[in-house]
Amino acid sequence: MLRCKKTAVKSESNMSEKEPPNPLEEIQKQLSELFKGANVKVSATGKPDSSTSEEPSVGDSSDSENKAIKAVRDFHLKPKEIRDYLDRFVIRQDEAKKVLSVAICDHYNQARQRLAGKVGMAGEYSKQNILLLGPTGVGKTYLIKNIARLIGVPFVKADATKFSETGYVGSDVEDLVRDLVKTAGGDIELAQYGIIFVDEIDKIASDSSQGSRDVSGRGVQINLLKLMEETDVNLISPTDMMSQMQAAMEMQRGGRPRPKSINTRHILFIVSGAFDKLGESIRKRLTKSEMGFGADLRETGEDTALYLQKSETQDFIKYGFEPEFIGRVPVRVACEPLKEADLARILTSSEGSILNQYRDDFTGYGIDFNISAEAILAIAGKAAKERTGARGLMTVLERTFRDFKFELPSTAIKRFDIDIHTVEDPVTALREIKTANAHLQHDVWINDIKRFSTAFEKRHGFTLEFRPLAIDALITEAEALDRTLQSLCEEKFTDFEHGLNIINRNTGQTVFKIGKPAVENPDGELSKWVVRSIESLKENPEK
Ligand code: ADP
Repeated sequence: MLRCKKTAVKSESNMSEKEPPNPLEEIQKQLSELFKGANVKVSATGKPDSSTSEEPSVGDSSDSENKAIKAVRDFHLKPKEIRDYLDRFVIRQDEAKKVLSVAICDHYNQARQRLAGKVGMAGEYSKQNILLLGPTGVGKTYLIKNIARLIGVPFVKADATKFSETGYVGSDVEDLVRDLVKTAGGDIELAQYGIIFVDEIDKIASDSSQGSRDVSGRGVQINLLKLMEETDVNLISPTDMMSQMQAAMEMQRGGRPRPKSINTRHILFIVSGAFDKLGESIRKRLTKSEMGFGADLRETGEDTALYLQKSETQDFIKYGFEPEFIGRVPVRVACEPLKEADLARILTSSEGSILNQYRDDFTGYGIDFNISAEAILAIAGKAAKERTGARGLMTVLERTFRDFKFELPSTAIKRFDIDIHTVEDPVTALREIKTANAHLQHDVWINDIKRFSTAFEKRHGFTLEFRPLAIDALITEAEALDRTLQSLCEEKFTDFEHGLNIINRNTGQTVFKIGKPAVENPDGELSKWVVRSIESLKENPEK
């Protein structure tokens, strides 16, 4: 501590001749001083690391550079190949797939060429940042996640609503770039070619019709704009104390200086939002001009989300976006609302179908999961009513299978057939399947009791033999209390070993037959056995 104080005084006197001290630099200096010689090392995860071997500091290894260059240099996909890959996971959204595939190919072809030191005819390349419009749960994030996985670049997602203009109240938009570096495992080179996805962008538009502009939303737009154009982002957040300490200690260890910032030139920004009210305002615009696409769109139904496909720059400015911001997002495409049949296809055809997850969950308990085509349609029908796109599927599936997931693993059921009745009335269907399999349940219960007595024997060296009437009594009680036989037996016989030990000392007995009275009144029965063993000892003292 003394050393710290001294340093502080020294720094102050030095500083007084020059500029006023920077408090963060000052803290860094003092921390470096504090840890000098202490042989403390902080790993990239922020946890102290006791090993003394020299690790490459984050982002400065040639290995990481190779990885980055490989991911981008190997990029030779064609738009149709990206589309085909997306088709495996994402149902519908053909226009979005097409537009995204082209934009992604352009972006990474440019990045690859620049990496190779080639500059195309255009000289300056303007980045193809993307705006994805469309209602919730239709696959906007899912499309981008799959693209990032295909190309092998890091991907981060955040909601625009969590940012504040200053970063003091909410997060700072620059945190997105730092998060990208974290997602890339600290590989700055790779992060420079990553994808940043900002959802709920419509929430930072200000409603100009209200007469006042939302100052904070506008500020966030401007900050995002800077990132989307090109800027250097400091890798160490000014508000992140842990990173500050790490940097100080790395400097202290004399490690290679780590890069201080990351350039956003090649980071692809995708912003997205539901733009609920925009559809309606476009509908009005088109209706006014009557001649346009309005007429045919109106015929396709009530869903104003369909009108998002006809959005123009002016619509976004009217919605409350800064012209500079929306100008920086030249690629715009709307995802369609999903209909009942689309939701059914997601369940049956998407490689990422959530139904597979349920199938795996039941298989984990040795239960075969068979779902009929009618049941799938019924689930899709219910999900469509939720009006949350494919997210509705998760809600309906969870609601339908919740009790089955809880109950079936404790039964003898090895095959779970799901039909329309299961979806319509899961409570009754569960009761029925349990009743139909009740005859097999007895074996499961006997098995549970056996498991308990085996464990008891292992623990205490005494064998408990349950008689048929005792088993029946245990089953009846377990059912009435909705308890497992395991926990019921534990409760009834867990302290038995003390009494059994006494009996064993008196008579040498190690096997005990558990009858119905022992189940109904375990302590009373055990006391009787103990008394009997004492009496038998008196009668046969030589034992
Ligand atoms: P949002 O459009 O709000 O970004 P998401 O892409 O996050 O919605 O969708 C939530 C989940 O629903 C995805 O993870 C995916 O499992 C499923 N999903 C959504 N849309 C589709 C689609 N078109 N095809 C297949 N699955 C989809």
